[in-house]
Amino acid sequence: MRPWQPGSGGADLTRRSFLRATGAAASLLAAPALVGCVGERAPRWTGDPFSLGVAAGEPTPDGFVLWTRLAPEPLSPDPATPGGMRGGPVELTYEIATDPQLRDIVRRGTAVAEPQFAWSTHLEIAGLKPGRPYWYRFASGDATSRIGRAITAPAPGSRLDRLRFAFVSCSNWEYGYFSPYRHLADEHPDLVLFLGDYIYEVTNRRRPTLRQHSDGVTASTLPTYRNRYAQYRTDPDLQRLHAEVTALMTWDDHEVQNDYADEWSETFDDPQQFLLRRAAAYQAFYEHMPVRPSRSRPDGPSMRLYDRFAFGDLAEISMIDGRQYRSREACYAPPNGGGHLETAATCPELVDPSRSMLGMAQEQWLFDGLARSTARWNVVAQDVLMAQLHEFDKTGRKGFWTDDWNGYPASRTRLLQHIHASRPANPVVLAGDIHSFWANDLKLDFDDPRSPTVATEFVGTSITSPGVPYDLFAAFLPASPHVKFFESRKRGYAMVDLTRETMTTKFQVVSDITDKDATLSTLKTFTIEDGRAGALV
Ligand code: FE
Ligand code: CA
Repeated sequence: MRPWQPGSGGADLTRRSFLRATGAAASLLAAPALVGCVGERAPRWTGDPFSLGVAAGEPTPDGFVLWTRLAPEPLSPDPATPGGMRGGPVELTYEIATDPQLRDIVRRGTAVAEPQFAWSTHLEIAGLKPGRPYWYRFASGDATSRIGRAITAPAPGSRLDRLRFAFVSCSNWEYGYFSPYRHLADEHPDLVLFLGDYIYEVTNRRRPTLRQHSDGVTASTLPTYRNRYAQYRTDPDLQRLHAEVTALMTWDDHEVQNDYADEWSETFDDPQQFLLRRAAAYQAFYEHMPVRPSRSRPDGPSMRLYDRFAFGDLAEISMIDGRQYRSREACYAPPNGGGHLETAATCPELVDPSRSMLGMAQEQWLFDGLARSTARWNVVAQDVLMAQLHEFDKTGRKGFWTDDWNGYPASRTRLLQHIHASRPANPVVLAGDIHSFWANDLKLDFDDPRSPTVATEFVGTSITSPGVPYDLFAAFLPASPHVKFFESRKRGYAMVDLTRETMTTKFQVVSDITDKDATLSTLKTFTIEDGRAGALV
């Protein structure tokens, strides 16, 4: 039973307490006309304004970002009333405490839910103590949010013996329940890293699905992207995960459009038109994520998301943006706007060194960070498969998939050569997108099996999205001996346990994504030893 489910009875404290508050004065900046509002100054919520929950993200040694969005009617189909809201800004209050019952409150303050960002709020909290959990909640009028938990990072450079984090990708509402998110929350890691395809903009029209995108459309406008995020956030497992585990965020393609690259759509839209769509998609992402406003507040079609996060002397995590700055996909011409198979022979552009997966500015930022890092583990968390993969299709055509790092081999070579030359301790790459588990050695020269392994890559499977065809992909593997493990038939996530001596990565899988009560098991465990790149099974 979960408090945001209609008719869930006793747990529904926020709604009951709100209904009691009819006529109560509210602390409002303006006089917003809220849904169900009778008097000008008395917001009488007819629905829980905290229906989308709360979230924390981006820990620093003295704070984190807190998020919520007021949405008493989360899936309001009227674009003029996002989440059932209209009018001006709304003042919220928040409390932060050192205990789960909020008895020892160390911070109280106000925040503004901004109409131009769908009444979301993003609070950059500072001045707290390092390396510890806090608990928080929001209130508006007489409605209170659930209590969330957030952590601060350890003091800069301080000794840290252990960090546990999960990484996830590819949760398509229409293909299953988000039970992996529930099991992940049950494991109580310090952090969860979202590596993209948090939503799917497309709606499946071809076959019956377990549950459906509420509007039945492909999201392409601000209202439709907003409603997609809002619907996903009504999922009890995802909502609980955000309330309990501090998040680091990046995105992949489906937050905007399948296989897009910068201003280039897979459908050959006019780039200026596509940038308007991208602006809407990025804004909706911002409105729903616990990301730092001082860095990420969108500016038209631009939104800076990449950043690095340090955890004492143990780990530095670079969250990478693999979509916004990438070069156009190689041999972008009808019928191939997005991912397809090419080789240097069929498509010389594929190996053009001026092309980049990250854009040259982000490449340089990543290179500088890796060269300077003194952390024991250096995690590069990003959206798509990095290891070389020789593929072929049903017609026997061979090639490299142009939408992942195989489509940007010069950019990949620059990164791996830089890692080899600058020798950050224990570089590890994380990825999603391909709806399957992988453990790969990242080679200085993938065409030479004797070439040094300069980093290790783990790819997590999807939360619910259908896996790539197992038999087809298994047939690729003999040509890519640096792939140590592959499995596409399971849905789940990866859980990482870092110590000073080892990185242990568990591939966690659920029994059945169509079963709300799916159970969890461990598919495979890998260990990396300090100082030795490559996954040991
Ligand atoms: Fe995906
Ligand atoms: Ca993807």
